[in-house]
Amino acid sequence: MKNPIFRLATEYGLLQEALNNSGTDWSVFTNTQKQLGPDFVEKLRSLSTFLHMQADLQIQNNTQLKSIWDVCEVGINELIKNWTDDSPTVRSQKLGWLNLVMKNESAVFAVQSLHDVSLQQISEREYFEGGDRYSPGFFPKLISSLKEDIPREKLLLEKPVKQIQWNGNFESYDGSTHPIRVVCEDGDSFLADHVIVTVSLGYLKGEAETMFHPTLPAEKLNAIKSLGFGTVNKVFLEYEVPFWENSQDWIGLLWENETPFSGLKPNIAEWWQRIYSFYMLNQARFGHMLLTWSSGREAEFMETLSEEEIASNITSLLRQFMGRPVPRPKHVFMSKWFSNPYIRGSYSHVSINSTGDMFDTLAEPLPQEKGDGHLSEKLQVLFAGEATQRRYHSTTHGALLSGWREADRLINHYSIFEGQQLQTKQVACGSHH
Ligand SMILES: Cc1cc2nc3c(=O)[nH]c(=O)nc-3n(C[C@H](O)[C@H](O)[C@H](O)COP(=O)(O)OP(=O)(O)OC[C@H]3O[C@@H](n4cnc5c(N)ncnc54)[C@H](O)[C@@H]3O)c2cc1C
Repeated sequence: MKNPIFRLATEYGLLQEALNNSGTDWSVFTNTQKQLGPDFVEKLRSLSTFLHMQADLQIQNNTQLKSIWDVCEVGINELIKNWTDDSPTVRSQKLGWLNLVMKNESAVFAVQSLHDVSLQQISEREYFEGGDRYSPGFFPKLISSLKEDIPREKLLLEKPVKQIQWNGNFESYDGSTHPIRVVCEDGDSFLADHVIVTVSLGYLKGEAETMFHPTLPAEKLNAIKSLGFGTVNKVFLEYEVPFWENSQDWIGLLWENETPFSGLKPNIAEWWQRIYSFYMLNQARFGHMLLTWSSGREAEFMETLSEEEIASNITSLLRQFMGRPVPRPKHVFMSKWFSNPYIRGSYSHVSINSTGDMFDTLAEPLPQEKGDGHLSEKLQVLFAGEATQRRYHSTTHGALLSGWREADRLINHYSIFEGQQLQTKQVACGSHH
């Protein structure tokens, strides 16, 4: 199966020629102002490959391990066994590199540290083939294309929902009754037979207890509380003139005094230590633009800083590592997913205190199937969004698939419902004869 976002993009004619950089020209600088040689950088990269292979092996063979850090630790200890001939400097550079890998993996999972992530996060996840494609404005264009199929008057945007009252018997002005009333923050309300809730897990963590009346079943509340929802942010730095070579793709910052065993504890006072790399975006498309990432508490703290503070601290960091004048960026653009009151983080993960089946619990519609409910009362509140998609959670395609899943659930419901009505009609007709 192809990635459904890719399939939609093909359908809407939104695929453009990818203008990605080669991804091969890497430069690594240390906090002691050394640039590591290309052969050594290759060696460091092969450590990452070895670590990934070791992790896969451990996942298959070692059932005692619980967190992603646990498998990394076994792999790192395997690696260290072969470092007997290394000088203390080379050893600390290799350990510093492995800590950079930990920072990167923590950004990928949007977590503080790999100690927080259960092994189920990787043992259960499925992936589509193919790499990332950078295409400016792709998602806004995709949303516009999707919106074209929906009549304008059916869409209400900028209308935050305060409460979903379900299992009720609400009477409409035309005398019909409905089990659901959706109450908005501005006081407006709407009656409905079904709602599909797609708010983020971050929002649910803060509001689930009051957002639903009656309150959600205990196992759903427990899944909301236990599953992880961390923060990762992108920071774009735009420069008047580039201070890097045209061919360069990536700059890595390696702290020789850091090791992966320190465990990436939050360090708000020196939040910039969490920043480990800069990607050079394609110049033809983006101009002189660098992209860096931050995750965990440091990323959440960065959201409170001004553009000015971020620009000056990142410039000092680059100067410290590169040992030469580096210009200040003329603009800094940063995502602020944690402080967005309707998102409150970035995406979900299987935390060490949760299990993959909690994504399924979150996806279960209400009221729960007891087998005795009347058909028309079923499927009042349905749940979609990335954190309800067990195999592809934390992705846009997971979010899309979850929406299709719930749409299909309602379509099937009404096909069965109509089928039953038809049968009743036939029985009624039969009794006439
Ligand atoms: C930095 C970053 C990089 C990422 N990179 C990738 C990537 O490379 N590939 C990939 O596939 N995915 C990536 N993702 C993940 C992807 O963006 C998300 O998984 C996806 O957007 C989740 O979609 P969703 O519809 O479940 O939730 P959301 O996009 O969070 O949508 C939920 C919506 O609910 C609304 N809402 C919340 N509360 C209320 C309320 N009370 N009333 C009304 N509306 C409300 C919110 O405003 C929001 O619009 C990335 C995410 C981040 C943050």
